[in-house]
Amino acid sequence: MVQKYNPITKEYEAYCLPDGAVLIANNGEKIKCAGCGEEFNYDESYTSREIHNEFGLGYCVCRKCYAKELTNAGFDSVGLLKDIVKWVKYT
Ligand SMILES: [Zn+2]
Repeated sequence: MVQKYNPITKEYEAYCLPDGAVLIANNGEKIKCAGCGEEFNYDESYTSREIHNEFGLGYCVCRKCYAKELTNAGFDSVGLLKDIVKWVKYT
């Protein structure tokens, strides 16, 4: 079962996952974003804060969808994503 967290109502809603969306894949593998359905490289994916399986594990989403999720949660998505990129470069 796939569900999407609604940050306004603070409840999960039933969600129809795009074909090709995954929880995990191999580096370099092409996957589909669980949010918008766009194809992209698994290496560039983020763990969704909203789209979860029944155990609460997040599906892979693209950078644009992840930024929207951060904004929905009240974060400064532009600032946070810049920090994440810096952190990845130095680790
Ligand atoms: Zn997306």
